Amino acid sequence: MSERFGLIHLSSGDVLRREIAEGTEIGRKAQSFVSQGALVPDDVIIEVMLSGLGRVAAGQGFILDGFPRTVAQAEALAGGLSRSGRPIEAVVDLQMSDDGIVERIVSRRICGKCGATYNVRFFPPRVAGRCDADGEPLIQRVDDREEVVRTRLETYRKETAPLVQYYASRGLLRTVDASRGAAEVENEIVGIIEGCGGTT
Ligand code: AMP
Repeated sequence: MSERFGLIHLSSGDVLRREIAEGTEIGRKAQSFVSQGALVPDDVIIEVMLSGLGRVAAGQGFILDGFPRTVAQAEALAGGLSRSGRPIEAVVDLQMSDDGIVERIVSRRICGKCGATYNVRFFPPRVAGRCDADGEPLIQRVDDREEVVRTRLETYRKETAPLVQYYASRGLLRTVDASRGAAEVENEIVGIIEGCGGTT
């Protein structure tokens, strides 16, 4: 999506995995939460994401991926965006059964170097175990093991699900049935971004 529409992709999970890999102070604070499927404390992630957003040039569109995940984060985001005069135009809620999510996530693999995402069942690389882009080995995220995924789903229900109502009441929520194939899900999200004025 980011390539297609020329949008900056800001993924909170990618940022945290990079900080952990580099052994920074943020990475040290985040590591145990991430590996157990819990949320990193709000103050840590809010600081990281708002400073990332602060580096996005005025007038440049962006996709936030994995952030916000709590009402406190949503409030902090709204404050940060209103100070820079950039409203959120749509929030996409991808809906899928727990078993469907687990089935997809346990077969996900990522490139240890560039972070490109594959799925050994649904989207395999050209050469087994190697990234198409740079040939580096593919790895499984520590939190993509089934028991951690189940914990992440509980975390989602307790801490993140309230955001559905939060954004619905602000008229921003767009719900997408993610149980369908990738192409159909993609088309629907493309339509949502085009509805916000995004052009390819
Ligand atoms: P993700 O790559 O979005 O699946 O995130 C992986 C893990 O990073 C999550 O399970 C959390 O431990 C942590 N994380 C990512 N985004 C956030 C966030 N917005 N708030 C708190 N923790 C987060």
